Amino acid sequence: MDAGEISNRRNRKRKNVQAVDPVVDSVVDITLVYQHLHRKKRKFMNAYLIFVLAVLVGGYLLDLVVSFLELRSLQPELPTEFRDVYEKEKYRKSQEYTKVTTGFSLIQETVTLLLTLIFILAGGFNAVDLLARSVGWGSISTGLLFTGILVLLSFVLGLPFSIYSTFVIEERFCFNKTTAKTFILDLLKGVVLAVLIGGPLLAAVLWFFEITGSMAWLYCWLAVTLFTFVLQFLAPVVIMPLFNKFTPLEDGELKEGITKYAAQQDFAIQGIYTMDGSKRSTRLNAFFTGFGRFRRIVFFDTLVEKLQPKEIIAVLAHEMGHFKKKHILKMMAASVVQTGLMFFILSLFLGNEQLFAAFAMEHISVYAGLIFFGFLYAPVSMLLGIFFHIYSRKNEYEADAWAVQTTDDQGEGLINGLKKLSVHNLSNLTPHSLNVFIHYSHPPVLQRIEAIRQLAEELAEEKESVQQIKQIT
Ligand SMILES: [Zn+2]
Repeated sequence: MDAGEISNRRNRKRKNVQAVDPVVDSVVDITLVYQHLHRKKRKFMNAYLIFVLAVLVGGYLLDLVVSFLELRSLQPELPTEFRDVYEKEKYRKSQEYTKVTTGFSLIQETVTLLLTLIFILAGGFNAVDLLARSVGWGSISTGLLFTGILVLLSFVLGLPFSIYSTFVIEERFCFNKTTAKTFILDLLKGVVLAVLIGGPLLAAVLWFFEITGSMAWLYCWLAVTLFTFVLQFLAPVVIMPLFNKFTPLEDGELKEGITKYAAQQDFAIQGIYTMDGSKRSTRLNAFFTGFGRFRRIVFFDTLVEKLQPKEIIAVLAHEMGHFKKKHILKMMAASVVQTGLMFFILSLFLGNEQLFAAFAMEHISVYAGLIFFGFLYAPVSMLLGIFFHIYSRKNEYEADAWAVQTTDDQGEGLINGLKKLSVHNLSNLTPHSLNVFIHYSHPPVLQRIEAIRQLAEELAEEKESVQQIKQIT
């Protein structure tokens, strides 16, 4: 119960007891305030509330420590490996970029944490719930409205940060190409997509939990998994074209090289495209999308512009490594298992009264339970994220190795490509190992280059010894 509610109750009382004398009125106030404080006190003893607050504050403090270590491990001296591609001034700029972005995300996190704490402690969730209920819809529609309001609130909170990051920070470091029009259109498309995709999915989950009882988590798991697979097919054909233009790659040296490499690898492609990444940013990237018939190779136009064909083919060979080693499938399988686990744990907490008391809720509902569970699940999710990242970094080394083994330049194309990518994206060359451990899906570039060199040397030695054996025999 918050201050607003106290005054509401006071008004209600006023209506019932007309023309009460002011002394009585203030007595009523004092009891209400007492009840209010008393309830607050009980709320503070709730183990779930303590846990949720500890998770929020603990996560924040961890990020604070990691950011501090990250900034401290910046090295003003340019690593030898990068002497040929970096100018001193540009390297200084990359360090500046790390400092600015790290500082900025700390500010954003601090504001978000404070507002979240205030929202929880002031009974914000209950207020939103009462508001959604006041419309008088059925439970699933009310749930969609409740979630919609919360998403809207967090969207509004994030918007100034997103604007500042795009138009001030990225602009200052010459990454930004986004116009105000593109930015607004992106937002609108994002909202429409979130409503069209997230809405029915959430409705399905709510429906399963309300109708199917103890097996609901299983149905939800199946539904979400099915949905994810459908999205994987739809994304490259329907969703991504909404945001970017895909143009088939022009004929020439690059296309020839790619086609030749793909044929060597027995890799059937539906098309090679460039994407107008330059519409938003000057950053470089490349990826595979889709499955089977819809499989495409996509290069950002900025990548095609900045890298030599040999380097681009090395990047492609790296992506091919992910494909051949079935990394994408394994990652998807792991994420399917993760989803099942999450729904199962969710089903254990969904109707828990203490959990709802922690958030000062007057009514118990499936939809609010989903949100509150998100707070409980955060540490599990973070731990799983660390495992995913460890696994992903291992995969990156494997994909690099694949590229070295299947191209014939001893990894030089890949090394040069990686160096150009890092320079152009102003990546931090010397991240702190704790930050890498927690947040990095890719190993730091210097370690990758070292591993590539080592493998290339081993391969060369092997070749040599094979030739020597041939000569002897
Ligand atoms: Zn990769």
